Amino acid sequence: MTLLASLADPQIFTVLCGFLGLAIGSFLNVVIHRLPKMMEREWQSQCAELKGTSPPESENLSLATPRSRCPSCGHAITALENIPVLSWLFLRGRCSACKNHISVRYPVVELVSGMASAWCAYRYGPGIAAFGAMVFVWAILAASLIDFDTQYLPDSITLPLLWLGLLLNLNGAFTDIRSAVIGAAAGYLSLWSVYWLFKLATGKDGMGFGDFKLLAAIGAWMGWIMLPIVILLSSLVGAVIGISLIVLTKRGRDVPMPFGPYLGAAGVIALFWGNHLNNLLWSRL
Ligand SMILES: [Zn+2]
Repeated sequence: MTLLASLADPQIFTVLCGFLGLAIGSFLNVVIHRLPKMMEREWQSQCAELKGTSPPESENLSLATPRSRCPSCGHAITALENIPVLSWLFLRGRCSACKNHISVRYPVVELVSGMASAWCAYRYGPGIAAFGAMVFVWAILAASLIDFDTQYLPDSITLPLLWLGLLLNLNGAFTDIRSAVIGAAAGYLSLWSVYWLFKLATGKDGMGFGDFKLLAAIGAWMGWIMLPIVILLSSLVGAVIGISLIVLTKRGRDVPMPFGPYLGAAGVIALFWGNHLNNLLWSRL
């Protein structure tokens, strides 16, 4: 069997995409860790420019350089220590140099990325839609965790995701282009309206502009028809988790909670099972 012919085999394609997802998951860990730091430095240098001072001295940081290091002792991670999931298991979740704990989140992100990628490959079969779905899941995974950590949803993820969704749907990869364009606009404007109503009524910021852009991106990928189910699912899960956190951890009601992870999770659920859920929802109404 030639390489291309074996790629067209659904089972081989699924397994290969699973491995690709594991490797990309490892890269997503770098993105989740570094992108907020890179954004912060960018803002600092913009502030310095405005004030006419020189930006604070710091090491050059990009997604590619420098090599990943242990946050506790600075030990540079070797290639062998960088194998998705396996290295963490082999090292028993500890740095090989200082024996400090390495968060279980790293292998979990890799595993989720690998499994979701295999599922995209299985669900859509060999072709552009499978790769599109994988990119969607990877972007949502990184954006959600960055929002969870820092309460920022980076434009550098949400905006390209929006445009890519529209481009893929020019050929109807996930929905027709008309539904995608309306979905992008309606996704943005619906949360934007909620934000302003809430702000006028209470004087507080209920959510961030990143949330509008993320829902616009989800609308661009899946069409306006999926927006009600995404908003419903994210609000439901957000309310359940929010109330449990307030009750269980006595967390203050005024502590801000990121909405991005819920929107993202609802977007991924809608990507995989949206048609089914939509039929269920509308047949009940
Ligand atoms: Zn260390």
